[in-house]
Amino acid sequence: MAEKITMNADGVLHVPNNPIIPYIEGDGIGIDIWPAAQLVMDAAAKKHGKQIEWKQVLAGQKAFDETGEWLPEQTITDFREYLIGIKGPMTTPIGGGMRSLNVALRQILDLYVCLRPVRWFKGVPSPMKHPELVDMVIFRENTEDVYAGLEWPAGSPESEKLRTFLIDSFGWNVREHSALGIKPISKMASERLIREAIKYALRNKRQSVTFVHKGNVQKYTEGAFMKWGYELVKAEFGDVAVGWDDCGGQPGSKLLVKDVIADIAFQQCLLRPAEMDVIATTNLNGDYMSDALAAQVGGIGIAPGANINYITGHGIFEATHGTAPKYAGQDKVNPGSVLLSGAMMFEHLGWQDEADEIVRALEATIADKIVTYDFARQMEGATEVKCSEFASAIVDRL
Ligand code: NAP
Repeated sequence: MAEKITMNADGVLHVPNNPIIPYIEGDGIGIDIWPAAQLVMDAAAKKHGKQIEWKQVLAGQKAFDETGEWLPEQTITDFREYLIGIKGPMTTPIGGGMRSLNVALRQILDLYVCLRPVRWFKGVPSPMKHPELVDMVIFRENTEDVYAGLEWPAGSPESEKLRTFLIDSFGWNVREHSALGIKPISKMASERLIREAIKYALRNKRQSVTFVHKGNVQKYTEGAFMKWGYELVKAEFGDVAVGWDDCGGQPGSKLLVKDVIADIAFQQCLLRPAEMDVIATTNLNGDYMSDALAAQVGGIGIAPGANINYITGHGIFEATHGTAPKYAGQDKVNPGSVLLSGAMMFEHLGWQDEADEIVRALEATIADKIVTYDFARQMEGATEVKCSEFASAIVDRL
């Protein structure tokens, strides 16, 4: 009998060998990548005597077509109840109307960490001379910043009201017919994100945590993120971590905590990737950074991600790319992103062997130059296979 994953009072997940895990197949290429990824995950679990009972939940276009709602209440209820889930990409209509479903899910479940490991898998085509030096883990704040949805269109009565208020109260020169948005950055949300980044770095014996921010310009939002971060290091991690200024960049046996301005961070990730390790950053910076860094090691077709609340135990692992509608149903695209998100999920559940095995088998498949179109076009002598064939080749190598 399949069982629920639960969390005990100490914040530790209890994971049965036959857990019920809700999944959203996803729109567009979701119908291609989800079955492929599921095949591999099931095979890896089975090898270790485990079996997942997958529970399909609806969101996105598929949900709308079947229920008239983009994000049915039942989906939220299921994610709440079963704690850990996984999802493919979802259609988000652009330009008003419905807000992003991904953002909605993150906010409703308060999944405050967007976790994006960025590492190179042997054999994956990369524009870097030394892609093996890229091994970073991004902790992106997931609930506030300009993603809080606090904005009004230009010319609306609301933005005019706000504009008048800003001019009258603060003498701020906001131009007529301006769209206005608010960027909230709170101490609580900054601290809980940074706390998890530091704990992760310590747990995984990483070299450093870098705050990426734009505090030189946005002093009271991005600057505060950095300041609160350094204060947190002193207040909560003084015995095991130290800020750059407090040790002159020589942390000894402690974890080094440093910061870098966002624009330079992009350069540094390209030119001196070995110096970047765990990254803690605000929402918008993290969004840009996650995709840019993914491009250094093979692109979003293979980049995994997760949205986690470490306090409640809720987590949704996800493909980081979109629905790529032009390829939908062609059994063509790379299932790597959702599959590696599954491997991340296994790791999070304590199924380390199963996770490692998926990664090893994926690497072995790529080393044999059996790849989907996206890698085939960048590799000499590659055998281009379909999405489902790629998954079968991985299973053969488990
Ligand atoms: P996209 O779906 O990510 O696709 C952009 C390009 O990325 C594709 O044309 C393809 O490049 C490449 N790509 C994406 N997934 C791939 C895969 N699995 N394997 C290989 N290559 C892959 O971005 P988009 O076209 O801007 O967005 C389409 C829809 O997705 C929109 O409705 C958007 O809102 C939504 N979206 C959803 C999420 C999410 O649910 N997490 C995230 C982003 C966007 P080539 O054409 O060069 O081969």
